[in-house]
Amino acid sequence: MGYRNYCYFCALKNRYYLLIYQMIENNICEEIKERIGNARHICIIPHVNPDGDAIGSVLGLHHLMQKLGKSSVVVSPNNFPEFLEWMPGASEILIHSANKEAAENAIQPADLIFLLDFNSPSRIDQLAPLITEHQAFKVLIDHHLDPKDFCDIMISDTSVSSASELLYQLIVGMGYEDLINADSATGIYVGIMTDTGSYSYSITPECHRITASLLEKGIDAIQIHNAVYDTYSESRMRLLGFCLSERMIVDYEKCLALIYLRKDDLRRFKYQPGDTEGVVNYALSIKGVMMAGIFIERKDYIKVSFRSKGNLPVNTIAHDYFQGGGHLNASGGSYNGTLDEAIAKFVEVSQQKK
Ligand code: 5GP
Ligand code: MN
Repeated sequence: MGYRNYCYFCALKNRYYLLIYQMIENNICEEIKERIGNARHICIIPHVNPDGDAIGSVLGLHHLMQKLGKSSVVVSPNNFPEFLEWMPGASEILIHSANKEAAENAIQPADLIFLLDFNSPSRIDQLAPLITEHQAFKVLIDHHLDPKDFCDIMISDTSVSSASELLYQLIVGMGYEDLINADSATGIYVGIMTDTGSYSYSITPECHRITASLLEKGIDAIQIHNAVYDTYSESRMRLLGFCLSERMIVDYEKCLALIYLRKDDLRRFKYQPGDTEGVVNYALSIKGVMMAGIFIERKDYIKVSFRSKGNLPVNTIAHDYFQGGGHLNASGGSYNGTLDEAIAKFVEVSQQKK
């Protein structure tokens, strides 16, 4: 690409200060700070079907850029779930799938692009060619395994809870911690909260220390929790009930629980993006179940999400058989075939991991 390419992967677990020092030692924070200072148009991009961490981190960064007086724009490959619509700055996000022209016009003049919460161009769908061919300086901030080498600076650490936590560390490393206002802190908090299942997994002392700093920025954590988790539409709640009562298969011998939804089911419950978020976790909550999956019939593929307990690696299953990826205990992908074939494949390969 003609630029110096940093690849910074932190192999050391749970070492918050070390991580910052290493970034400082390698002048990564300084270089990013300088790039931000010189940038005229900054573009910030989350992954397709963005979740709380993706939207939280991009908005956390967007508010910091605004505080620095920079021109910054957030472009998402497609729409985000309704339960994130209340977030400060969410209404400014340009949605590429809904408004290609406006989104592409916003990306085109960028001289600095931040890519958050994903590890490969394939995760930004139709934006992929535009971004990979773009001449802007690109910085990736992510926490997924095996990142593809496609950015000028890649900050990738799988030991952190979320991209939002990693972003916070970068902000501290740049010396901009004091510029994090309540809006920016809200984004980062939402990212950490949702990617840790409300502080139930991937938590470390550092993650809690960062959370304490975010609370000191004046965010209302209770209100944020309510806004994200307690705003189900009636149809979403009924869909959840339907999934658990009519569409769940439990196989104690195989230690598996599976949920599946057909196109007709989605229509019946007026499915909106985000409505099935978290449903697979209920299946995993059953005593004796070690792996769970949800299989959702889309127009021409099956969308899958997997969860596991302990050391059972659902990320390799998603990667090797479902064109996806993710984390050891939470992953997702898609399957080109029928619902039954997707389920059969998962049942088969899950037994090889036990
Ligand atoms: P979820 O099941 O909540 O949608 O996603 C769980 C984890 O799997 C997330 O970290 C997400 O990044 C990853 N993931 C979900 N869907 C996909 C996919 O289609 N491709 C890849 N590479 N990762 C995915
Ligand atoms: Mn994440």
